[in-house]
Amino acid sequence: MFRKTVLKGLALVSMVGLLSGCATSNASSKSSSSSSQKTTKTETKRQKLISELPKGVKSTDSELIVVNKWHKHNELTFSKSTVNGITVRSSIVKPLTAFLNGAKKAGYPATLVSGYRSVQYQKEVWNESIENYEAQGKTEKQALKLTKEYVAIPRGSEHQTGLAADIMNTNWFDSHNSQLLSSSDKAKGQQWLIKHAPDYGFVLRFTKSGTKSTGIDYESWHFRYVGKKSAAFMTKHNLTLEQYVSLLKAREAAKK
Ligand SMILES: [Zn+2]
Repeated sequence: MFRKTVLKGLALVSMVGLLSGCATSNASSKSSSSSSQKTTKTETKRQKLISELPKGVKSTDSELIVVNKWHKHNELTFSKSTVNGITVRSSIVKPLTAFLNGAKKAGYPATLVSGYRSVQYQKEVWNESIENYEAQGKTEKQALKLTKEYVAIPRGSEHQTGLAADIMNTNWFDSHNSQLLSSSDKAKGQQWLIKHAPDYGFVLRFTKSGTKSTGIDYESWHFRYVGKKSAAFMTKHNLTLEQYVSLLKAREAAKK
């Protein structure tokens, strides 16, 4: 049942893997090919952002690990615990519990749908999807293409970090056949989660404006723990984790 829900959820997360190339390099090559004035403006804005980055945060901090289709990781080692029966990294039990309690207090009970998933589990979901497509009469090539569109590539899903949590407004989730759909953001309870996530150190990881940078389509339910300081900064400046970590790296490189 759990797997079925996850698979269904993954299947509904459309377009994953369709966007190609690295957004950072695309953006920089684009700006350098246009007018130099624009490049200077972009660079000035970037330098200003770097100067305003929160103090004491480093790109190498464990909660800022970037896992995506361009940055794949083998199984990571960390201590695990459960929240409402869902496995997560032990270090986020407190903030995640506070987040869920906060939603409940505000009158919007939320369901923790998914947390940590092992690389092995992702492989199984991946293989199962290919097998299903092949059973439907698709060729090996077609099955792979379709799977790439809807399932996060093994070693490339940040659920393996234990820092990601799929959270849905319970009313909406229960009345929509336990599906993960971006239209859940029409529900006030989901809006509450998105708005208040930074208060608990979480960000909505796959925003509408960040799809090129993350390589993942908009997801109104996928939250990622990054810590309060980083969550506040990322939200204020509408930065994806990829963009934020790139700024942190630039600050560290300038200090050397
Ligand atoms: Zn997720």
